[in-house]
Amino acid sequence: MTGRLQNTVALVTGASSGIGEATARSLAAEGAAVAVLGRRRDRLEELADKVRADGGTAFVVQADITDQQQAAAAVESVVAEFGRLDTVVNNAGTMGVGQAVDSPLEEWERMLEINVQGLLYVTHAALPHLLRAAEDSPRRVADLVNISSTAGRVARPGTAVYNLTKFGVTGFTEALRQEVMQKRVRVSVVEPGTVDTELSSHLRDGVRQTIERQVEGMEMLRPEDIADAVSYIVTRDRRVAVNEILVRAGEQT
Ligand code: NDP
Repeated sequence: MTGRLQNTVALVTGASSGIGEATARSLAAEGAAVAVLGRRRDRLEELADKVRADGGTAFVVQADITDQQQAAAAVESVVAEFGRLDTVVNNAGTMGVGQAVDSPLEEWERMLEINVQGLLYVTHAALPHLLRAAEDSPRRVADLVNISSTAGRVARPGTAVYNLTKFGVTGFTEALRQEVMQKRVRVSVVEPGTVDTELSSHLRDGVRQTIERQVEGMEMLRPEDIADAVSYIVTRDRRVAVNEILVRAGEQT
């Protein structure tokens, strides 16, 4: 498969559904060998089969990124398989919604573990490889793309802890961007609006129905719309750094 990412290797976390799945397919279509990470092996295998059927290269990495050792081993397994790592998309995430006073503490902990700690574990393990790739790849640039949210820019009642995690991701991205930009590792953030994925299926009963009513009749974004934004960022020439892309659904405030 030829494309702008030919001879590069990309790791996409949370690739077993939604935005991650679409992003992995899009990067593979640009010629990257894609490592697809998640906990549901069957879904990852299905995706890998689709990528291969389209002429691409895929590698399944089953891991729970909330476990530091699994996250680090996952990154190392990609480098062991392909010898390099040029692009990382930190996409795995979860969302809990509801008034703080009614929210189970476990739901808050889960968001912090996946959206923040998991993202940090993957980033910490991947950074040395990205720095090396930026130095020795033909493109002489590497990319770390973090998937935040509109909730990383706008706080609303009912999403306080999700806001905490996504504002955190946005802030972390900007600071890290400044640290490694001279070495040509581009660190970018994509902030999706409402996307039609499995994300809301994990919400608590009662809350889920409320959210579903709120978006009823709205034309939501598709996972491919966000994959397009990620692809745009990572296919730019090294002289260009797209720091941030906010993508809302057409009717979303
Ligand atoms: P999905 O629920 O479809 O995807 C979430 C992905 O994260 C799954 O592939 C899941 O895989 C993976 N994941 C969750 N926990 C872990 C874990 N512990 N270890 C490894 N992988 C994990 O939702 P989306 O595609 O919508 O979400 C992707 C990202 O986009 C998230 O960060 C979300 O916050 C963000 N986002 C989504 C929006 C939306 O409206 N959908 C809006 C704004 C941002 P598995 O279960 O197999 O582990």
